[in-house]
Amino acid sequence: MDTLASSDHVIVVGAGLAGWRFVEALRREGCESELTLIGDEVDAPYDRPPLSKNVLVGKWDLAKATLATPELIEKNHVTMRLGVSATGLDVAHSTVHLGDGSSVAGSHVVIASGTRARRLPFSADDRIHTIRRLDDIRRLNKDLASLDSGSPVGIIGGGFIGAEAATALRTRGYRPIVFEVASRPLEGVLGEEVSTWLMGLAQGADVELRVEQKIGDVTESPGGLRISFDDGTDEEVGALIVGVGVQTNVEWLASSGLILDNGVVVDEHLLASDRVAAIGDVARFAWPNVTGTESVRIEHWEVANGHASALAKYWMTGESSTQLMVPYFWSDQYGKKIQMLGHPRPDDEVQRVSGSDDEGKWLALYSRNGVVSGIVTLSNPRALMLSKPLLEDPVTLANALERAPWAS
Ligand SMILES: Cc1cc2nc3c(=O)[nH]c(=O)nc-3n(C[C@H](O)[C@H](O)[C@H](O)COP(=O)(O)OP(=O)(O)OC[C@H]3O[C@@H](n4cnc5c(N)ncnc54)[C@H](O)[C@@H]3O)c2cc1C
Repeated sequence: MDTLASSDHVIVVGAGLAGWRFVEALRREGCESELTLIGDEVDAPYDRPPLSKNVLVGKWDLAKATLATPELIEKNHVTMRLGVSATGLDVAHSTVHLGDGSSVAGSHVVIASGTRARRLPFSADDRIHTIRRLDDIRRLNKDLASLDSGSPVGIIGGGFIGAEAATALRTRGYRPIVFEVASRPLEGVLGEEVSTWLMGLAQGADVELRVEQKIGDVTESPGGLRISFDDGTDEEVGALIVGVGVQTNVEWLASSGLILDNGVVVDEHLLASDRVAAIGDVARFAWPNVTGTESVRIEHWEVANGHASALAKYWMTGESSTQLMVPYFWSDQYGKKIQMLGHPRPDDEVQRVSGSDDEGKWLALYSRNGVVSGIVTLSNPRALMLSKPLLEDPVTLANALERAPWAS
């Protein structure tokens, strides 16, 4: 593989976390190539996790989430093309076509176009909020400002974003009601046992959580929005947020010839072809881990960072990075911190090995075919980090129980 030369021109599509971190990582590796970063949002790259936490709660103003300040943009010698979408990719010529009719031709292309919030086909769709972009928060805050304290705000989806939004809205004095279609939030991600242990958190934080809620439609009403349920009942809320997962931003690659299958399919070096790579939320990558090599797409902040550093290192030195071995995720919800290492499947075996619901903190191990595949904790960051070695080499569940690193 040829490493990057100063005569090369790397085009990065997607000015989010992965795209921006890749620019920074390349320069850190000593890259002197020309760099262009293309993003369809008008805002300079910013961090998304604070949007449903510190920003929504009102502790941070929007600017504090910025990753790419004007000084950093200048320091990294990168041409920013913001507020314009990539509409096509010519892989053979490393050329990106843009929505304004222009094209950017380079030598290498990085796809970092991430995901967007999924919407639901409700009649009042244009009155319903999602939380993905800074613009979403600006619009939501405007809507919330017109509501009295204590007004009901609906949240469809009790997953990570929904739970964080509910927590923030409760702190701001609204009355969040979370409508979850499943019998337990997060069951599809964390599995039956863990989602059962997390069930009580909403109540403890004074948030109303309603499960098995099948919604037929949402329409405008005099008081805001009316949610109509399949059982014939309805509920009026002042504002409504939908947090029901994401869709990958890959439509612009439809005629590129790249393999698109739940994201852009890339190899263990994050390459989709010789000179085209994909990183972050949009990448479905070959992930070697303690239970074997899996093809996964992981929507974690830390993974997007890790991809950016790994690809920069590979293109600059030809060396592979091992940084991706243990994905990390966290969520702050209902006054608690959920943290996870690894990428367990919901049907993996689960054993809680420390703590309890009553203690308000615990650690559980996931295992697959007897090998530890993931670790999840509730408000127990120290135990989580002490247990990380269990995922750095294959360890049987029996051996993990014997070693009990969480108890050190
Ligand atoms: C509210 C919120 C809270 C979160 N909290 C956590 C958390 O607590 N812990 C955690 O681990 N993760 C969290 N995440 C996930 C984390 O933020 C993502 O994993 C991370 O943002 C992925 O970065 P990315 O750059 O791959 O994609 P994105 O952040 O989606 O960035 C992609 C960028 O590309 C742009 N783009 C898309 N298509 C085009 C196109 N055709 N042309 C030009 N530009 C395009 C998009 O508009 C976007 O700006 C959270 C996400 C959200 C939304």
